[in-house]
Amino acid sequence: MEHTISSLSKKIHAGELSIKDVVSQYVSRAQADTLNVYREVFSDIESQVAAAEAMLKGGTATVLTGIPIAIKDNILFAGHKAGASSKILEHYTASYDSTVVKKLKAAGAIIIGRTNMDEFAMGSSTENSAYGVTKNPHDETKVPGGSSGGSASAVAADMAVASLGSDTGGSIRQPASYTGTVGLLPTYGTVSRHGLMAMGSSLDVIGPMAKTVEDAELLFSIISGFDALDSTSIQPEATARTLTKKLAIPKGVRGSKGLDAEVSENFEAMISSLEREGFTVDEVELPHFEHALAVYYILMPAEVSSNLARFDGIRYGERVGEGNVHDIYGATRGVLFGPEVRRRILLGTYVLSHGYYDAYYNKAVALRGIIRRELEGALKEYDAIITPTTPTPAFGIGEKAEDPVEMYLSDLFTVPANVAHHPALSVPSGKNAAGLPLGIQFIGARFDEATLFALGKIVENIR
Ligand code: GLN
Repeated sequence: MEHTISSLSKKIHAGELSIKDVVSQYVSRAQADTLNVYREVFSDIESQVAAAEAMLKGGTATVLTGIPIAIKDNILFAGHKAGASSKILEHYTASYDSTVVKKLKAAGAIIIGRTNMDEFAMGSSTENSAYGVTKNPHDETKVPGGSSGGSASAVAADMAVASLGSDTGGSIRQPASYTGTVGLLPTYGTVSRHGLMAMGSSLDVIGPMAKTVEDAELLFSIISGFDALDSTSIQPEATARTLTKKLAIPKGVRGSKGLDAEVSENFEAMISSLEREGFTVDEVELPHFEHALAVYYILMPAEVSSNLARFDGIRYGERVGEGNVHDIYGATRGVLFGPEVRRRILLGTYVLSHGYYDAYYNKAVALRGIIRRELEGALKEYDAIITPTTPTPAFGIGEKAEDPVEMYLSDLFTVPANVAHHPALSVPSGKNAAGLPLGIQFIGARFDEATLFALGKIVENIR
C-alpha cells in the first residue's frame, strides 16, 4: 500500500517529504495511466503546489495540504473542464467551484485531475462512459464498478491518495468494494451538492473514497458542513451514540438471488470474526428492504428525466442539428446522450406521465417512506445494518453490458441507504480465490457516520 492521507501528511508536516516530490510522483503515475482512470490530469498543478507550500511555510497547513486528490468528472472546479463523461459536455468548462472543491482548495489539497465515470453517473461499471471503460487495477479484464469507477481505480492504483465520488444508488460503495478501497455514502444533505451535476437530486451525495477508514473520515470532515448554496443542505444533528456491539442483517439478504457463493462465504466469515470481537449479529425483519431497488429504479429515472432536460443543445453543451427548437432538441439529445442515459430519460418520462404517475411514481414515494421508517426502527436498537456491499465481485468487461437489469442488480444492497437518506460505508473484507477484492457494508443511523467509522476500523483490524 502506497501512502495514505494520514501517513503522507505526517511526513509532509515533519519535512521528511516535499509536497513537490510527492505530487510529481502521483502526477507521473497518473500521466502513465493505462487503465483509463483519468479523463484529464489538470495542467495547473504547479500553481496548486505553490499555494500548498505557502500554507505549509505560513503555518496554516491542514492534514490535506499537499495531498493529491482526484475528483469525479461531474464535480465542478472553476476554469477546468467537467463533462460527466458525456459527449454532450465534451467542451464544457466549469465557471464556478463546487462547494467541495472550495473546501479542498481551502485545505490546501492538490486536485490532480478528473476521473472517468459512467455517463452522468448512470451505471455500475464505467462502461457507460462516452470515453471507454476504466479497468480494474486488480484484474484488467474486470470493471472497476461504477459509476465512480475512475475515482476508485485512481486510489487503488495509487494515482491519487484519495478521491471524491458521488453516490446516487451505490456509485461510491460498489466501486470501492470492487477495487479494495473504502467508500462512504454520507448522510444525505451533510455534504453540499452545490456544483455537482445532478442525477437524482433527492438521492445524490458526494463522498470520499480512500485507502483506509481513517482517510475517509478525514476527507469527510473536510468536505462536510452546512452550505446555504444547497437548499437540501442540513446542519448535522449531534449524535452521541455509544457502540452497543449489536448488528442487524436484513432477513433475506443471505438468500438473495444472485448472491455469489464466495461473497456469501466471505460475509459469513466476517460475521464470525465480528462475533469473536464481542458483537451480536441478529437477522431482523425489514420487509421492504428488498423493494428498495424497484423504488430506486422509479424515483431515480423520474428525477433524471427532469434534471437532464437542461441539456438541450441550447442552454448547455454541444449542439447537433439545425432548424426549429424541436429538431435541435431531438438531434442533440438523440446523438450526444448514450443509450443508458436515453433509456432512463424515457423511463422517467413514462413514470411521471399523467396516466402512470399514481401507479408508479406515487407508489415509489410511499414505499420510500416505509423503507426509511424500517431502517430508522432497526437502527434504534442496532449500531448498524450489515450486508455484503455487492452480491458479486467485479464482473468482466462486457459481461453485463447487454443486460441492464442484470447490471441494476449489483445495486441491490447499496440503494436502500440512498432511498432512506442514511449513511453507509463499504470496507474491504478480503478477496475471493481469484484475487478480486470483496467488501462489506454498514448502514448507519442518520448523521451517525462516527459509528460507521468505528465499525470500519474494527473490520480493518480483523483483516
Ligand atoms: N449503479 C446505480 C445506477 O446505475 C447507481 C448510480 C449512482 O450511484 N450514481 O443508477
